[in-house]
Amino acid sequence: MLRLTELRLPLDHTPEALEAAIYERLSLVPGTLERFSVFRRGHDARKRSAIKLVYTLDCVVKDEAAVLASYKAAHPKDSHVALTPDMAWVPPVTYGATLAAKPGFKRPIVIGAGPCGFMAALMLARMGLRPLLLERGKVVRERTVDTFALWRRSELTPESNVQFGEGGAGTFSDGKLYSQVRDPRFLGRQVLKEFVAAGAPEEILYLAHPHIGTFRLVSMVEHIRAEIEAAGGEYRFSTRVDGLEFEHGTRRLRGVRTAQGDVIEADHVVLAVGHSARDTFAMLYENGVEMQAKPFSIGVRIEHPQSVIDTAQFGPSAGNPLLGAAEYRLVHHASNGRGVYSFCMCPGGTVVAATSEEGQVVTNGMSQYSRAERNANSGMVVELRPGEDYPNDPLAGMAFQREWERKAFIAGGENYYAPAQRVGDFLAGRPSTTLGAVVPSYKPGVTPTDLATCLPPFAVEALREALPLFDRKLRGFAMEDAVMTGVETRTSSPLRVPRGQNGQSLNTPGLFPAGEGAGYAGGILSAGIDGIRIAEAVALSMAGRPVEG
Ligand code: FAD
Repeated sequence: MLRLTELRLPLDHTPEALEAAIYERLSLVPGTLERFSVFRRGHDARKRSAIKLVYTLDCVVKDEAAVLASYKAAHPKDSHVALTPDMAWVPPVTYGATLAAKPGFKRPIVIGAGPCGFMAALMLARMGLRPLLLERGKVVRERTVDTFALWRRSELTPESNVQFGEGGAGTFSDGKLYSQVRDPRFLGRQVLKEFVAAGAPEEILYLAHPHIGTFRLVSMVEHIRAEIEAAGGEYRFSTRVDGLEFEHGTRRLRGVRTAQGDVIEADHVVLAVGHSARDTFAMLYENGVEMQAKPFSIGVRIEHPQSVIDTAQFGPSAGNPLLGAAEYRLVHHASNGRGVYSFCMCPGGTVVAATSEEGQVVTNGMSQYSRAERNANSGMVVELRPGEDYPNDPLAGMAFQREWERKAFIAGGENYYAPAQRVGDFLAGRPSTTLGAVVPSYKPGVTPTDLATCLPPFAVEALREALPLFDRKLRGFAMEDAVMTGVETRTSSPLRVPRGQNGQSLNTPGLFPAGEGAGYAGGILSAGIDGIRIAEAVALSMAGRPVEG
């Protein structure tokens, strides 16, 4: 099969035009294109009056070798036609069931049922290794009820919320499924294929910026659970891991202790707890597991009418169904040395209450598959540096997050309302007393106020500099009535739990740190990719084989 990249066609091209473009690109003789499929479709909207669709296609042609050779001879420096790479995932261990049948076999434990944990468990189950998945939160449908209780009635359940429970942090999200991680083995493709098999729309396999939306994510994680259980895995919900058990006098892990006090023996434990498991991080620290402080960011969510973003990005093509609701990505290096950037943009979505601790306010964003809500929202965040903004100590970033989340709770009125401010007021340095034409979507509600009371001064300064500049790139971005809600503190983990080439903690053999909480992923797709990687490392270790570099 041949892969053609960067095939550009007008937004309104006919279906036949795609085939014609393949014939033209490859100089094919009529009748020699047997079939083709779209591997990726994105768009280039830099010229708004002439937006192009950009395709990557996989083509089956007669006499493939000759076609490729003649193309290369005619275009020796061109890399846009090549053989389609082999993207299949091959399990590193195929005799897991035999291992599992041996006397004394101990099942691997996976802590956390987020995308990293459930992908690790799925792959371990497929390899016959019967993983046990321990999740502090509840099964996804019950978790949904608890999450909505915060949004509707200001009632937080600390063990079952936006961050904790089956499906992990991204379950109530936009479900964006793209990532910028290097992925030479196409593990991301494997994650997407598993998601489609579990009910996600097929288009996630080829859209350049796919998303699933909350509703479908919920049923998808249920399907994945059924798949894991059918392959010999087991889930235990409402089971928080509170301690580690070591072999006598060593740092070799021999199991975990749950909040109920049970000790579960295991020689292989995947730590996929996400970035909000603060009590778990403290427990790891007390147990001497090697950890390091890591940079993250702080800021707010910003909301505009989606129509403003659509027009700014797509001009006369705004509303075209092939383009969908417009996204944006903005970056500015402020003169105080801080990077300011948009984060986790949710077109046609809502801002959500995302705290997992009492007496704190944290914002994030989500959307449904349709992305049809009135507002676009995105994190607008400023980078932080350990050693400068908080001590260079593994747990200090967490303390910093708590401090600002608490200030946001107080500024919001101490009832889980979020502090909010009009952009016009924020730029003018005056508190908001009312809001304008943009109705904030955050539930349970917002309190108009001065966001400078719940953000570090350098972040306020950097945001005030960046917003007018972003308006030059995206007209309307600094509109007076755009609404900012605070605070966005959980952009990524405030710490890293480093691991070696064998996937294991540098000083705690048997512990496999993975996913976002350990600093190895940032988003659903990259967490899923890391879940596959860590499952491979566990399987190889169980089989007594080294991990290849
Ligand atoms: P998590 O998903 O955080 O999962 C960790 C799991 O571990 C949780 O279920 C938790 O309950 C459990 N756990 C924690 N401690 C323990 C313990 N001690 N014992 C047992 N279980 C424990 N990313 C995207 O790519 N696209 C998006 O559109 C997107 N939107 C988001 C919207 C929201 C509202 C939020 C909160 C996040 C969003 N993200 C998005 C980020 C994404 O969700 C995370 O990057 C991803 O979920 C990380 O996966 P993970 O498996 O590493 O950790």
